Amino acid sequence: MPGAGRAHLRPVADGEANPLDFGLRDLVGASAQTLQRARGIRTVGQLLDWLPRTYLDPTRPTAFRDLPHGEDVVVVGTVRAATTHQMRNRRGRRLVVDVADDAGGTIQLTFFKPYGHQDRLRPGVRVVCSGQVGVWRDTLQLTHPDYATLSEGGAQWLLDGLVPVYTATKGLSPIVHGQCLDLVFHQLDELPDPVPAQVRRQVGLPGLLEAYRLVHRPGTEADHRRGRWRLKFGEAFTVQAQLARVRRSSEAVPARPRVPAEQGLGQRLRDRLPFALTEGQEAVLAELLGDLAREVPMHRLLQGEVGSGKTVLALLAMLAVVDSGGQAALLAPTEVLAAQHHRSISQLLGPIAEAGLLGGLEEGTRLALLTGSQSAGERKQALLAAASGEAGIVVGTHALIQQHVQFAELGLVVVDEQHRFGVEQRDALRAKAPEGTSPHVLVMTATPIPRTVAMTVYGDMEISTLRELPGGRRPISSHVVDGRRPDWVRRTWQRVAEEVRGGGQVYVVCPRIGDPDDPDLPGSGTDGPGLPLGGEVGPGAPQGEDGADLLGLLEMPEVSAAGPPGLHGVHQVARCLRELPATRDLRIEVLHGRMPAEAKDAVMQAFAAGRVEVLVSTTVIEVGVDVPDATTMVLLDADRFGISQLHQLRGRVGRGGRPGLALLVTQGEGVDPAAIERLEQVAATTDGFELARIDLESRREGDVLGASQSGGRSGLRFLRLARDEDLIVQAHEAAWRTVESDPELSGHPELADALTRLDATSAAFLERG
Ligand code: ADP
Ligand code: MG
Repeated sequence: MPGAGRAHLRPVADGEANPLDFGLRDLVGASAQTLQRARGIRTVGQLLDWLPRTYLDPTRPTAFRDLPHGEDVVVVGTVRAATTHQMRNRRGRRLVVDVADDAGGTIQLTFFKPYGHQDRLRPGVRVVCSGQVGVWRDTLQLTHPDYATLSEGGAQWLLDGLVPVYTATKGLSPIVHGQCLDLVFHQLDELPDPVPAQVRRQVGLPGLLEAYRLVHRPGTEADHRRGRWRLKFGEAFTVQAQLARVRRSSEAVPARPRVPAEQGLGQRLRDRLPFALTEGQEAVLAELLGDLAREVPMHRLLQGEVGSGKTVLALLAMLAVVDSGGQAALLAPTEVLAAQHHRSISQLLGPIAEAGLLGGLEEGTRLALLTGSQSAGERKQALLAAASGEAGIVVGTHALIQQHVQFAELGLVVVDEQHRFGVEQRDALRAKAPEGTSPHVLVMTATPIPRTVAMTVYGDMEISTLRELPGGRRPISSHVVDGRRPDWVRRTWQRVAEEVRGGGQVYVVCPRIGDPDDPDLPGSGTDGPGLPLGGEVGPGAPQGEDGADLLGLLEMPEVSAAGPPGLHGVHQVARCLRELPATRDLRIEVLHGRMPAEAKDAVMQAFAAGRVEVLVSTTVIEVGVDVPDATTMVLLDADRFGISQLHQLRGRVGRGGRPGLALLVTQGEGVDPAAIERLEQVAATTDGFELARIDLESRREGDVLGASQSGGRSGLRFLRLARDEDLIVQAHEAAWRTVESDPELSGHPELADALTRLDATSAAFLERG
């Protein structure tokens, strides 16, 4: 039926509608409503993008007697008999249809509403049915199967090649769904293909429409594999083309080249350092300085685990900029970290950052700290230092680029531990740099990023990696503590006390802040011992809310006070530890994101100085905090944390000479076995890259790209970053070549169209904004 609809289903030329956006009504008639109601499918593109979950092979029909119970099957047979029975317990009748296969086996189709089926399923009719195999009184059954009779036609797809099986959807018969797909395929001549013909030829790819056909109507296994590979490639190609364009646009406005002076401040710092840079650090530093010396703005990601020595490299890069008359800004994700950076940088720089002060280096510079919570006076002074150029290095939170902060000559921005740094922020930065220039940008992260994620999420940046910790990896031993075992938990607190007696300090990390006035946790009785966890955590024990997506919450540097009830809160735990015999003599403090900045800072300083022995905190300590004597970390409700996050958190301990210890305490109840396995994996290795790989495999794409990077879903439909590395690399190369040769994409209108179609969420993750 080369139908009436055909004529207007031409591929897009300029400005024409893309057939993928067509509503289904004109193509499939009344079924369009069914698709929309059952699955929210409105357009051709949505229908085609819903891919089969698996395939069945009806050319090798299983003899009925071999059918696997409980599984989805497709069977072909001949109706032998159809009878209706009055139902005993209910009103109404039941239709039972006996269908025989060619080997003489039978299966029964049962329908509780016989109407309609009776007329179609007459003895002698050949029928194709799909459904789940059940057994009733020793007879194999399909209850309310989908079926098509051969005489009726319209289900040829059930008979040719493999039968696609989609996720069962209430209110949508697979037969109707299949017919809709048939109608659509029948009426489409072509789809505009974002992958240019030349690339398709090189890589050996089918066209887009052909790919959808291969996936939905495969003849063989090889067909649908080829189709799927192609769909993934198209997706990866489009994403990479977008990244290539983002990259080009960030290069459009040049930067000032920055070359360190011969005997400049960088050299002064190197002379001061109590250590020599490692080979890895030297190599990365050469990359940074190489970038800075060019007119193309640096846009580089530096990844290296906590303690791998990123900060010192960033500082050397900043000094290269100061040497050449510019300024550098260092952005930290929280005020605690900004303050800490400020402290440690002024220590490292010493007189270099004390120009104009007594004992300062005459040709040195100044360091300014700018945070939202400073007093008006401090703030004014810092603002002035930034605007006048007196401060060569300005440290602050993101407020630095969001607010009315002016720089005399901003040349480099270093972003610490930051995933979200998008086009908008880049524009904001440009506005702070001298007219007509872009600042160089260096982003640092302690999260090891698997290659495919790096290419997809940070694909517009150059990447440098520090693989080794200076002085080797300090051993951190990690153990999973079963929170349901009071004796183990009690032992944990004893261990905490022992560590402190041995001169160590301890972090206790809780998933939420809780309320200072909350009653104690349920189960924590009146009798001191065993209070927080530990003893009498009985049936009323803390429990997470079912399905609460705590991970998303925890990724944020500051946890909400509310949080899911039942998880350990900072306040309760601190109170309990102050009463517990094992720990009550220790100096215990709390830290969380809701505290005023000075209070946080004071607590952090007290902890860093050893005046606080046990710091009960939320994940605000996650990134960058460095306390050499902290030897132990207790993570409560550890099963609620993600792999990378656990790894990051425990990286806080064992940073001095002494070995670190991480105790991962599970929830008292309601622990997901998969989460325990995750904890065991974290306990088993300290290799961040290995853990990042495991993490990627265990997470869904939406979590990898969405929750952590854009706060939304990933927008990736087909790609699996854990598995599709080769494909992504190929797509990357092809896409960057394409954009290179045709930056405006004037010769590639389909690709240009596809980029505008990248939905809002995926655009968001690309921009990490
Ligand atoms: P990161 O920022 O990657 O977490 P830092 O730059 O803060 O790491 O370095 C961690 C600690 O190691 C700091 O105390 C730093 O002074 C020190 N450090 C950095 N590089 C070296 C090195 N090459 N040798 C010895 N210690 C180093
Ligand atoms: Mg750091």
